Amino acid sequence: MPDRAPVAAPVPAGDPAAAFARHDHARCAATAREVTARACAERGLRLTEIRARVLAILCESHAALGAYDVLDRLREDGRKAQPPVAYRALDFLVVNGFAHRIERLNAYIACGHPGDDHAPAFMICRSCRRVAECAAPAAAAALSPQAAAMGFEIERVVVEAEGVCPDCRASARETGGETGA
Ligand SMILES: [Zn+2]
Ligand SMILES: [Zn+2]
Ligand SMILES: [Zn+2]
Repeated sequence: MPDRAPVAAPVPAGDPAAAFARHDHARCAATAREVTARACAERGLRLTEIRARVLAILCESHAALGAYDVLDRLREDGRKAQPPVAYRALDFLVVNGFAHRIERLNAYIACGHPGDDHAPAFMICRSCRRVAECAAPAAAAALSPQAAAMGFEIERVVVEAEGVCPDCRASARETGGETGA
């Protein structure tokens, strides 16, 4: 079976491939919460209880969540939260680099390395909505000749690749999605 995807070995939490592979997600989520709390303390940002809770909700998996998914979870906690509460907390996390907004899905993920100045690219599984964040330092550089030719100054490049993750590809094969046999 030459086209078979390699069996995913467990990868360390924090590896860009972790979103789509078996890994210790509890450690992954705990690290995101710790690093965010530390960065907030260092930068004098207030990680309020609601902001911390929204981050924890985003950290539950690598699947992107819409603002209304987050709101539902806040209400499951027994809070009488209104939409602006979810939006304001998400906005705080995004503006300060602790979470990312995935434009393609109109949804949010926790950042894989919060606090670092980085220009990530996102691999988005259209089937399970899991998103892997990886470094894309070359994206702005790749566009810079065209931008320079137009006298355009690039401030931000967003790379969102849509496709199918290894698990979803494997289950498509199992259900005959690709074999047609
Ligand atoms: Zn994880
Ligand atoms: Zn990030
Ligand atoms: Zn998937």
